[in-house]
Amino acid sequence: MRIILLGPPGVGKGTQASNIVKKYNIPHISTGDIFRANIKSGTELGITAKSYMDKGLLVPDEIVVSIVQDRLAQDDCKDGFLLDGFPRTVEQAEALDIELDKMGIKLDKVVNIDADKDVLIARVTGRRICKECGATYHVINNPPKVEGVCDIDGGELYQRADDTEETVATRIQVYLEQTQPLIDYYRKKGLLLDVDGTKPIEEVFRTIINSIE
Ligand code: ADP
Ligand code: ADP
Repeated sequence: MRIILLGPPGVGKGTQASNIVKKYNIPHISTGDIFRANIKSGTELGITAKSYMDKGLLVPDEIVVSIVQDRLAQDDCKDGFLLDGFPRTVEQAEALDIELDKMGIKLDKVVNIDADKDVLIARVTGRRICKECGATYHVINNPPKVEGVCDIDGGELYQRADDTEETVATRIQVYLEQTQPLIDYYRKKGLLLDVDGTKPIEEVFRTIINSIE
């Protein structure tokens, strides 16, 4: 199974991704997670990525594309993968097509999850993440059993540096200008599945799974 999750910031890509990869036993490739791991460990890539992420801007295509190329070449991607947050520009999508051609493989589905701006802002500003395992919560929609503590491993929950109301407005604008054109790009290829991201987490998941199977 080779899947792309497309959608604006905060729509629920990461939440759905973690359920989908569990069901199909495929690797979850989140470019945002790769950048955050590099920021945490203080690599040069992390320092460069952070300068864009903190402003809500996209990391340059050539950096992102080369990371994804390397990741897709790893053994665990042989039988499938889920791309979450990549591609985000037409240039990235074209580079991915070339890479997949070289590998002799094809995408199965591009899942386009969408919601209105006010829903996205409420989701992003209420998002909390476990420092230890990366599990995602929401202070209202999907709260942990104990405030500030991860249900899974007891890790401390934190708020991402770019999850402020100000930065999310830029990120949504960047999405509309640079990422939304990918909806048509993949629709023309007959790969697109439109999903209403305002529905509850479980319902969104069932819709995706029913369409994939
Ligand atoms: P969200 O899920 O809220 O949209 P992500 O974790 O996917 O956030 O991305 C966080 C930030 O990482 C983006 O705002 C951008 O700066 C950077 N980023 C992630 N993926 C890409 C990509 N494919 N191209 C360029 N920048 C990216
Ligand atoms: P993305 O990866 O697209 O930026 P996330 O999966 O991190 O989005 O979700 C953003 C926030 O919204 C998180 O706090 C998450 O718990 C919450 N969330 C995700 N999906 C839903 C949903 N269907 N209904 C309500 N809240 C949701």
